[in-house]
Amino acid sequence: MNVILLGPPGAGKGTQAESIVKDYKTVHISTGDIFRKNIKENTALGQKAKEYMDKGQLVPDELVVELVADRLSQEDVKQGFLLDGFPRTIFQAEELDKVLLKNDMKIDKVINIEVEPEVLIERAVGRRVCKVDGTTYHVSFNPPKTEGICDHCGQELHQRDDDKEETVRNRISVYTNQTKPLIEYYTKQGNIANINGQQKIEAVFEEIKSALGSEQ
Ligand code: ADP
Ligand code: AMP
Repeated sequence: MNVILLGPPGAGKGTQAESIVKDYKTVHISTGDIFRKNIKENTALGQKAKEYMDKGQLVPDELVVELVADRLSQEDVKQGFLLDGFPRTIFQAEELDKVLLKNDMKIDKVINIEVEPEVLIERAVGRRVCKVDGTTYHVSFNPPKTEGICDHCGQELHQRDDDKEETVRNRISVYTNQTKPLIEYYTKQGNIANINGQQKIEAVFEEIKSALGSEQ
């Protein structure tokens, strides 16, 4: 099953992706995670991406499209993939359609997680992420068992550089201007499911499962 997770920053895409990959045969591809890994390893791509990410702007289309096209040509994605944070512009969506056509693949479902802007800010500012395995927590809404420590691997949690309130506000306006038009793009393609993201994490997942059905 090939799925796109769409939604504003802080909507819960990464959180839901953690549950989806446990229940469905699908590989999680988060462009944000790939950029953060490159930043950590100080690669040329990471250095370029950091300039934009720190300001809450999008990394230029050509860098992202190439990266995803390359990832989708790898063997493991044949079992199914879950795109999280890509596409984010109409150009990226059109390029993705070309890559899918070339690889004889299609998107089965676009899961659009809807959350109001004020809630997004609270979520992003309170987000904490494990430095080692990437598990996502929230200081109030989804806290770890021990403050500041990952439940799974016992390592320290940290706050993302781009989760400062001002940067989050910028990311939300970038979403509204550049990413939100994708809702119409995929509504026209006829495979979008709009999900109420302002429920408990488990309830959001139930709605996603209903939308995905028993498809593997
Ligand atoms: P995204 O990947 O869309 O940017 P995340 O999955 O990282 O969003 O979630 C952003 C923050 O909100 C995290 O701290 C996460 O724990 C929290 N969160 C996710 N889903 C919910 C929810 N349904 N209710 C409350 N908090 C949530
Ligand atoms: P995310 O982890 O999805 O919240 O992404 C964090 C940041 O990475 C974004 O604010 C962008 O700067 C960059 N990024 C991630 N995915 C994309 C994309 N598809 N296009 C452009 N920039 C992206």
